[in-house]
Amino acid sequence: MYQALYRKYRPRTFDDVAGQEHITETLKKQVVSGRLSHAYLFIGTRGTGKTSCAKILAKAVNCAHPVNGNPCNICPACRGIDGGSVLDVVEIDAASNNSVDNVRALRDEAVFSPASVRKRVYIIDEVHMLSTSAFNALLKILEEPPEHLMFILATTELRKVPATVLSRCQRHSFRRLDAAVISERLDDVAAREGLTLTHDASILLARLAEGSMRDGLSLLDQCSGADPIDSETVLSAMGLAGTRRTAELLKAVSDGDSLAALTIFDELWRQGKDPAALLSDLGVLMRDLLIVSVAPKGGMHLISGAADMETLQRFSGRFTNAELLRAMQRTQEALGALRDNPSPRAAVELCLVSLCDPSLGGGLPELLARVSRLEEKGVCAAPAAFPAEGPEAACTPATSSMQKPEFEPGFAQEPGFPPMPESEPEDVSEGGSQPGPQRSDGDSAPAEDIDPAKAEAEPPSGGGAPAESASWEALVSAMKPRLAVGIYSLLTDPLQIMGVFSGDRLTLHIAKGFACDMLNKQDILAQFRECASGLTGRPIFVDVSEMDSGEKLATRSLKELERFKQVKFI
Ligand SMILES: [Zn+2]
Repeated sequence: MYQALYRKYRPRTFDDVAGQEHITETLKKQVVSGRLSHAYLFIGTRGTGKTSCAKILAKAVNCAHPVNGNPCNICPACRGIDGGSVLDVVEIDAASNNSVDNVRALRDEAVFSPASVRKRVYIIDEVHMLSTSAFNALLKILEEPPEHLMFILATTELRKVPATVLSRCQRHSFRRLDAAVISERLDDVAAREGLTLTHDASILLARLAEGSMRDGLSLLDQCSGADPIDSETVLSAMGLAGTRRTAELLKAVSDGDSLAALTIFDELWRQGKDPAALLSDLGVLMRDLLIVSVAPKGGMHLISGAADMETLQRFSGRFTNAELLRAMQRTQEALGALRDNPSPRAAVELCLVSLCDPSLGGGLPELLARVSRLEEKGVCAAPAAFPAEGPEAACTPATSSMQKPEFEPGFAQEPGFPPMPESEPEDVSEGGSQPGPQRSDGDSAPAEDIDPAKAEAEPPSGGGAPAESASWEALVSAMKPRLAVGIYSLLTDPLQIMGVFSGDRLTLHIAKGFACDMLNKQDILAQFRECASGLTGRPIFVDVSEMDSGEKLATRSLKELERFKQVKFI
């Protein structure tokens, strides 16, 4: 009878268990010293060796001749447990035996001394599936266990196990296995099975296994009909497009070539490739590109390894970070919607077309991506939402026209406002919509007035001489080098965020939704705090107030006034 590879090559001693040395070494020492717990809880994702270790431990504690903490696998106890003839070692799947009656029956028989071995061992797999009353019944035995009893509980979902049970168990967390560990094991098994497994295919299988040895071996099983097993075999057996095709698809996206993208997808679709896996691969490739971009030196270990460095280098500079973020978001959305979609093909095509042409999406991520692209092309030196007078002012429409056309005239001309008494805010507000006459007034303003443009032109770089107060614009300028481009561009849009200084407090009014998600984070707020404290020369507290979208428009003119005032009297 054919035995699945993962069963055939299931580890039989602690030393055989790959990648979990932190657990196996501890358990071996406990077996040698005899200092065993009466209840263990093994936690970890599927296929990481929990039940294998549980069985090995059950054998080791009953073995007649344990070798350095490992079971000998030849004494009657070891062989009996392996063969299932020793009734004192019981494996229970809690998924199908989760009622209180099951546990009560277990409790009733648990009190009896073992018949043929030293310890009666209950291995309860997927223990989180037990009902509450079953857990309570289990707790009774765990509280006062007889000397001959041992429980080994295994779970993939720690948070579903009651704290009362957790506190009575010795916990061991199984790691997700490194691709290198899985690949090594696959090579070993392939050699023993007489299979020709190429190095590339072994690495690819290990990556697809996502940390699970069992999955890795099952995948190898699935490909074992081919000789040799190379990456092409693996890709076609799994219905995957492969890195080369994924890279071609991404190139079409970066070229904005919808036709090419749809043609490539059509070919892959005809070949029976899985659309979800295709989008997922595309997402992984973009994620790797983003990591290379934001952490070119330190982030190498975070890269998935799906694409080689040469492929990643080829895409260098083809996307801005904001574009990558947006594309990844779009891909994730499409992936999420794919599951229940009766027409997956159309869903993927829609996603590809919108990736190729960002102007087809109207959301903030799309706009950010477009702004970042314009910046990249040098349309504007900086995403200045509060432009100074001079050559830079000329490029303002390019960046701001997409986000705030309705406010354009007043917005661009604002620095030209004449100084206004605080008691007449209404006039200033109205003046904002009539830039013409206000401008000439502004030009004729007395020379000794502080020019707001000048104040912006020399933003304190942080940590300078103590100042009475700081302006939001100066803070935004000083924040620029600290933030990613996509995040920074949010700061320059008063519809998204506006900071107001009041004494030692900086209140950030942030638009609900995307802006809040991106900006209302500990690390970003810490940057604000540090930067604002540097500007003012004293500790500044930062708090956040969320703006509704309705509130944004209503308070906008007021917020701009406040800003105007602060620029004047800095
Ligand atoms: Zn033995």
